[in-house]
Amino acid sequence: MARSSTLGHPRIGKHRELKRAVEAYWAGKIDEAALQQAGREIRQAAWAVQQAAGIDLIPCNDFSFYDQVLDAICLVGLIPERFGPAGSTVSLPAYFAMARGAPGVPALELTKWFDTNYHYLVPEFDAPVAGIASSKPFEEFAEATAQLGRPAKPVLLGPVSLLLLGKHHTRPLAEHLRGLLPAYVEALRRLGQTGAEWVQIDEPVLVADRTEDELALLRAAYEELARVDQRPRIMLQTYYGSLDELSWSRVMALPVDGVGLDFVRTPVNRELLNRHGFPANKVLGAGVVNGRNVWRANLVEALELLEEIAEHVEVDRIWVQPSCSLLHLPHDARLETHLPPEIAALLAFAEQRLEEVVTLTRGLNEGRSAIIDELERNAEIFRVALDSTRIHHRPTQERLAALTEDDFRRSSPYEVRAALQRRRFALPLFPTTTIGSFPQTPEVRSARARWRAGKLGDEEYWGFIREQIAALIRRQEEIGIDVLVHGEFERSDMVEYFAEQLEGFIVTEHGWVQSYGSRAARPPIIFGDVHRPKPMTVEVSRYAQSLTDRPVKGMLTGPVTMLNWSFVREDLSRRDVAYQIALALRDEVRDLEAAGIAMIQIDEPALREGLPLRRQEWDEYLDWAVRAFRLASSGVADETQIHSHMCYSEFNDIIEAIDALDADVISIENSRSQGELLRAFLDRRYPRQIGPGVYDVHSARVPSVEEIESLLLKAAEILDPEQLWVNPDCGLKTRRPEEAWPSLENMVEAARRMRERY
Ligand code: GLN
Ligand code: ZN
Repeated sequence: MARSSTLGHPRIGKHRELKRAVEAYWAGKIDEAALQQAGREIRQAAWAVQQAAGIDLIPCNDFSFYDQVLDAICLVGLIPERFGPAGSTVSLPAYFAMARGAPGVPALELTKWFDTNYHYLVPEFDAPVAGIASSKPFEEFAEATAQLGRPAKPVLLGPVSLLLLGKHHTRPLAEHLRGLLPAYVEALRRLGQTGAEWVQIDEPVLVADRTEDELALLRAAYEELARVDQRPRIMLQTYYGSLDELSWSRVMALPVDGVGLDFVRTPVNRELLNRHGFPANKVLGAGVVNGRNVWRANLVEALELLEEIAEHVEVDRIWVQPSCSLLHLPHDARLETHLPPEIAALLAFAEQRLEEVVTLTRGLNEGRSAIIDELERNAEIFRVALDSTRIHHRPTQERLAALTEDDFRRSSPYEVRAALQRRRFALPLFPTTTIGSFPQTPEVRSARARWRAGKLGDEEYWGFIREQIAALIRRQEEIGIDVLVHGEFERSDMVEYFAEQLEGFIVTEHGWVQSYGSRAARPPIIFGDVHRPKPMTVEVSRYAQSLTDRPVKGMLTGPVTMLNWSFVREDLSRRDVAYQIALALRDEVRDLEAAGIAMIQIDEPALREGLPLRRQEWDEYLDWAVRAFRLASSGVADETQIHSHMCYSEFNDIIEAIDALDADVISIENSRSQGELLRAFLDRRYPRQIGPGVYDVHSARVPSVEEIESLLLKAAEILDPEQLWVNPDCGLKTRRPEEAWPSLENMVEAARRMRERY
């Protein structure tokens, strides 16, 4: 009999219980015992739903108070010395210090987890290795097993992934790996001795390009783990993509008892399986329903996939499971009660995914007839969707089909536009500007909350927003900023604001997904053809511009960022969805231009984030991503200046793509790697204007004039001073006014001093 399995459950809590508890603990409002109790309740609820759904192999140790990589760091005791000696267990305060820093002690670096929107804490390999410094996996195993009445399946982040996701390797990788293994050996022994039958060891690094040397490390690691006596059986789990020829051959030869594969993300694992078959001595963890997108599986197709898999692997050796942990899904689609029924019917969050896994397992074991009702209901959902005019919007499809190369091009090349724009704006050298948002004070947030709750009328609310804008325009003029913004006070979030106004998007009420630690986002869902029923930002921009003679930038979120920070429909290519969003934005850009807005910024902070894990797929992505931006931005006159902003990433390897955006001005996050990045732009002969962020908006510190000036001097040595703009490295939304304004005053003064020099 095939068994049903899952790889991990969301842990933020149906009503964000984790966030509440952890933040209350940080604020000193609850003690450690109360936090531990809250954690237990979240875990117990997760195990209970999985058991009630009928899942056979239920994971444990997939819960975390902050991050599963941090948990793995603690398990092996890889604790940087600045956090004190590891001791036999890392205390909860020390754990959170690693996650968030402590006075004078910087946190571990937080960075993106593969190509998801989750972020993990980066292991530092120049730290000493203390060996097991956390009993969490053992405690959670005991806890789960007691609750379930049978052994749970502990989940560990694998040693090779821990190693390759880390930084500051000071010795050969093989040596670092050897340092990690004793803790894994000990962990397997303890889990085995206490009754674990299987352990799931995650090695997601295997779905990216891997060298022979790295695969040799994998071999060394699992040979050693396989030798542990009394160990549980090992399910080596991969996800977020497929293996390739090389890694397939190496992975299938490992002395492990099972291999978990993602059959959803790409067709490659399926092809590899059909080409090479599957080892007779292993269990296949068949990820046949999507663990990271919100659409119901097409059950017939999933069952066909399972039947095909069963041609290579006896059914007894198949586990039916999601393609990856359900961490990236909200908990329960049934909480969304305000959606159009045909859209709601299409959604499967984590709990609905469990039902699919169980249904498919039954279908595989007992044949289609056993699940005929489920199959019929499932087919009906898709039939209804196919006819839905909410999903299929003819005019948008026709517009998309009619695109020509001209729609992706400005009428004149940059140099021609730049000359016209110089004349039009007559800006000084080193023009100063900001990235868009200004502090969202408690006042602003509460006004929005009251408006949303119907306690504040439209008139009052928009009157309040207008007052905020007017005050901001005045203040920017007073301190002497050259190019102004309206402040984005009306936006809770740069993606959600547009998602709420565009057709084809829905915004959920409870669709929270952990992005890191206690932070959760509610990604919008793109379910249908995207179009713009009416202008979205023209009123506020027109109003802001009416208050001043200086240019006020229009402010939009770009198509690629809208796409990358949403759940996206799968019946259309990502490229076409991006183009649809771009067309809607193109109309907005034109309307802004017609309303007298002469500079329009289209933010693409998530451009780089969308890069595929495998290098060979980069060009294709960058090609359509760049074209989507151009489609959104190229419909304007030469004299209209297009800006873009990017952050959260290293740009060195995508400068060609940034150039190809053909934006007149870009602003980029730069405060960490000042010279290096600009030199990369110089090396690629980047001709356009750049505002390298002159201070870090994520810090409360006010930078001095001298500091900013010295950064600008350095920048002006590398790039042509005519190319340079002066701005912070991102929006000021999360700063307090008393931090934002002194920083900006210093920035303006630094720009003034620069002008005197040049
Ligand atoms: N315009 C946005 C802001 O200033 C950009 C935010 C971002 O890059 N993440 O908030
Ligand atoms: Zn930014």
